[in-house]
Amino acid sequence: MAKKKVGKKSKFIFVVGGVMSGVGKGIAASSIGKILQARGLTVTALKIDPYINVDAGTMNPTEHGEVFVLQDGYETDQDMGNYERFMGLHLDRGNYMTTGSVYKSVIDRERNLEYGGQCVQVVPHIPREVISRIRAAAKKADADVTIIEIGGTVGEYENILFLEAVRTMKIEHPEDVLTVIVSYVPTPSKVGEMKTKPTQHAVRTLNGTGVQPDIIIARADRPLDEKRKEKVATFCSVRKEDVISAPDIESIYEVPLNFEKDALSDIIIKKLGLRAKARNIGEWAALVARSKAAKKPVRIAVVGKYFHSGEYVLSDVYISVLEAIKHAAFAAGSRPEICWLDSAEYEKSPEKVKELSSFDGVLIPGGFGSRGIEGKISAIRFCRENRIPYFGLCYGMQLLVIEYARNVLGLKGANTLEIDPKSKHLVIDIMPEQKDKLKKKDYGGSMRLGGYTAVVVPKTIAAAAYGVSEIVERHRHRYEVNPEYVERLRKGGLVFSATSPDGILMEIAELPVKEHPFFLGTQFHPEFQSSLAAPHPLFLAFIKAAIKRGA
Ligand code: GLN
Repeated sequence: MAKKKVGKKSKFIFVVGGVMSGVGKGIAASSIGKILQARGLTVTALKIDPYINVDAGTMNPTEHGEVFVLQDGYETDQDMGNYERFMGLHLDRGNYMTTGSVYKSVIDRERNLEYGGQCVQVVPHIPREVISRIRAAAKKADADVTIIEIGGTVGEYENILFLEAVRTMKIEHPEDVLTVIVSYVPTPSKVGEMKTKPTQHAVRTLNGTGVQPDIIIARADRPLDEKRKEKVATFCSVRKEDVISAPDIESIYEVPLNFEKDALSDIIIKKLGLRAKARNIGEWAALVARSKAAKKPVRIAVVGKYFHSGEYVLSDVYISVLEAIKHAAFAAGSRPEICWLDSAEYEKSPEKVKELSSFDGVLIPGGFGSRGIEGKISAIRFCRENRIPYFGLCYGMQLLVIEYARNVLGLKGANTLEIDPKSKHLVIDIMPEQKDKLKKKDYGGSMRLGGYTAVVVPKTIAAAAYGVSEIVERHRHRYEVNPEYVERLRKGGLVFSATSPDGILMEIAELPVKEHPFFLGTQFHPEFQSSLAAPHPLFLAFIKAAIKRGA
């Protein structure tokens, strides 16, 4: 009889935040994964978000940052993108949960009488559900180490039940569970001295939930000196070696290398009793060195609308786009200079669009709704007429088609149903299966989502970039190029260089190189599958065209 394969027993590292949000917990979790991989260990990662939304798909990006789409179509937090990019993983819905999704499963199960008449309670049933999901993800990946990042900061009412899951797991298997707190150590300008008190308070708050951190990652604008490390260690009950200094650095990709300066992988491996190989981080270090060596600037304008939250510019909304531009630029030996431009400005003052001449390339990312759309269309027209490399992602592709229909084919008022249902020329229309969903107000998780295969047409920019005839790319859209206009657009000179395998959905639109150096849009989101080690081929082609213009 064949022996049943027994999977590995995973160890678990919880990453929680202290003092304040936004200090790079996601990057810390991703970097821990990276340095453990470099020791020959298999890792997987989960993100827990404490909000009630069942997934991230229904949130306005200015509320929450980018919605990162997984291969299986789940709409998640941008940190999932960091995990995939750093660790080279393909994660799925089992790697992401929100309070809403956890409660939903428990309630659905209760309605199906699956609790056998028990009183279903917040404790223990909610933490139990969280733990069973964590264990399932670890098992599926057959991981040596499973990293779980808990969103928010300790002390928030919202994440207490997740910390309860940490406490429970630690009691049950103390040798298998580590807790890392990523905290902040400020140096107030008027005081001029690094202050550890906020971190001490954060750790006490964590202690109040029954959890003691094993490792403290101290984020600060500078490295921690020995004295500060000692202080944190003494007051937070950890060894001095377990206080890891994480100063601000230029590139997020340097974080794993920095962690290793304090021998973090050794500390983790020892604490968890893991058997690991010698450190092999050379390949990553070489990629980081390449990115630092890239000096010649390539100037890219990103024309969008979700930039402003009060006084702040939120480039988080397009984090994967930003990273994909960087990956491609570094690979091509250039340093990207990215400028965020608000398309609404071109509606207020149409002349302003001329500023695009000063850029080497223009990119319009995905989006929804009507604000700033006419401004984006003017930007696309300007790029087409002035041979400025243009790359449109999702909405950026649909608007490329609208612009072409209006200004080249002369279809007056051409538009998308999303904006102008009364348009005489709906060159972008709703997908038939989407109509019912909207009628039923079924908005959450109901777009065309995740990885779908597309067939690439030979002898096009897309074909030259990909070098293969079939691709799988991630989607997130409700509207598409109206099949009734495809022939007319083709006859008018627009090339659809990739389609769904049945030829019905247009996946890439472009102009032939002899007419324009790079004028291309994708119905999908290539940015979700780019990494430092493997830049996305279309981003690379776009950046190369931009570099050529700048030369
Ligand atoms: N709003 C468009 C659609 O739903 C484009 C979506 C996007 O850019 N992600 O089809």
